[in-house]
Amino acid sequence: MTHLKLAERVGRIQPSATLALTARAKALAAEGKDVIALTAGECDFETPAAVRAAAIDALNARGVVDRYTPASGLPQLRKAIAAKFKRDNGLEYAPEQVMANCGAKHSCFNLVGALVNDGDEVIIPAPYWVSYPEMVNFFGGKPVVVDTSSTGFVLTAEALKKALTPRTRLLLVNSPGNPTGAVWSREAQQALADVLKGTEVAVLSDEIYEKLVYDGEHVSFAALSEDAYNRTVTINGVAKAYAMTGWRIGYAAGPRHIIDAMGALQSHSTSNPATVSQFATMKALTEDPAELDGWRKKFIARRDLIVSGLNDVPGVKCAKPGGAFYVFPDFRAWIGKRHGDLKLMDDSVICEALLTRALVAGVPGREFGAPGFLRFSYAASDEEIRKAVERIGKFARELS
Ligand code: GLU
Repeated sequence: MTHLKLAERVGRIQPSATLALTARAKALAAEGKDVIALTAGECDFETPAAVRAAAIDALNARGVVDRYTPASGLPQLRKAIAAKFKRDNGLEYAPEQVMANCGAKHSCFNLVGALVNDGDEVIIPAPYWVSYPEMVNFFGGKPVVVDTSSTGFVLTAEALKKALTPRTRLLLVNSPGNPTGAVWSREAQQALADVLKGTEVAVLSDEIYEKLVYDGEHVSFAALSEDAYNRTVTINGVAKAYAMTGWRIGYAAGPRHIIDAMGALQSHSTSNPATVSQFATMKALTEDPAELDGWRKKFIARRDLIVSGLNDVPGVKCAKPGGAFYVFPDFRAWIGKRHGDLKLMDDSVICEALLTRALVAGVPGREFGAPGFLRFSYAASDEEIRKAVERIGKFARELS
């Protein structure tokens, strides 16, 4: 049989590990296994009532959501996004400097597509979210991974200086960060902005976890200075903050010519994000839904629960993250130990063993550029977190 060849560019990427492991945990649960899935960064809360009501109103206004919108989003949504940036981040954007996308992942994808030429270097602080290097690979760029594990998961000015070359096109900033939950301080980000002065390097500031900061403050890179503003595209979305992962709306703001280029790319790929989701997003962005404060408090309690529980597990060290809803514990002390007939060779084997033998699903650190670690999402109920930690603890005590 003829084996049809794939494009070379898809050979450079792997399927998303976070999504694959989430699907795997769901499949095991569907088979009746009592799996606790701490895989995807996905809230277990319902989309706020006011947001759902706005979507229902839009649906009931016959003919409205049945149609296309402009590719970059409804004009009134672009205005609402611009107003959000002004209110929450002190950033002034004209609606033309703003666009809506099909999730913040899509915003990142469009931006990398709009900026990166073959061989261009993109600096990615590690641990990083799984999709960043893959997007760069897909578009022919070269990920330049800079390890931040010895500096509290924060990129330092010195490390940035060392990584910069004449081919550097883009720096990725993600605070609060996935998978570590690290929140980068104003001083830390300012030091990076100072290094970039006088260069041609753009910044992608992925602020999708903005509303989930528990210690410290959220800092928008673009708000640091005029220079930072002019080189930054700020990306955010409704998925994480408003329990709206399924609605698929992200958004981006930055220099007009970059947003125009991203809009052109989007107009030939997805066209507009789903119209009904745009109406829901407008509601979410216009006034913070009442539920948010309570959710934040719950996340703080869950973070404390999982961090202290994991630190009680023999051999596991877990730093306390300042934001997002992930913990990124260090499992290196387990490597080389045995669980029955199985030798724990690396974090992938540990992850697989925890899934099949302890029924707790996480994601191996190597997928985020940090072998030896595991990522668990604590966007799960207290009960699930308690049980998961107990199971990991029991598994640890069975190691030899
Ligand atoms: N961003 C979330 C995560 O890291 C959802 C899955 C994905 O898009 O990677 O779990």
